[in-house]
Amino acid sequence: SVEEAAAKAAAHLADTEPPTIFDKIIDKTIPANIIYEDDEALAFRDIGPQAPVHFLVIPKKRSGLTRLSKATEEHKALLGHLLYVAQLVAMKENLGEGFRVCINDGPNGCQSVYHLHLHVMGGRQLTWPPG
Ligand code: 5GP
Repeated sequence: SVEEAAAKAAAHLADTEPPTIFDKIIDKTIPANIIYEDDEALAFRDIGPQAPVHFLVIPKKRSGLTRLSKATEEHKALLGHLLYVAQLVAMKENLGEGFRVCINDGPNGCQSVYHLHLHVMGGRQLTWPPG
């Protein structure tokens, strides 16, 4: 609808954070091994896998979510959706024996790409605690 298009444009304009490599994956100007996509989320294999299966789940619109700690009430449904997609794709990837979902936030969390992403890792016995 016209209203939806206007809301989308406004959200885009409000998104003043600098673009990241993930924007190029979303608009498919650089290739990625995409394993799931819907209107809100994209899942693709991590270029530097830390486990036999390692993929990222990201929102297609940055929506101001450069990092988890930027989340507001408005993001709750999207955050729930990303977590739901994480397990959906984990099951598709045969991770029924278990897996890990992780979000790195900021310098102390070792975040390197400032576009919110969930890491999903599995396919081997993982250890705890992480480094
Ligand atoms: P962070 O350190 O921010 O939590 O995670 C960023 C992740 O993105 C890293 O695991 C890194 O390997 C992955 N990554 C960075 N650039 C690319 C890319 O161009 N393609 C893919 N598929 N993964 C990337």
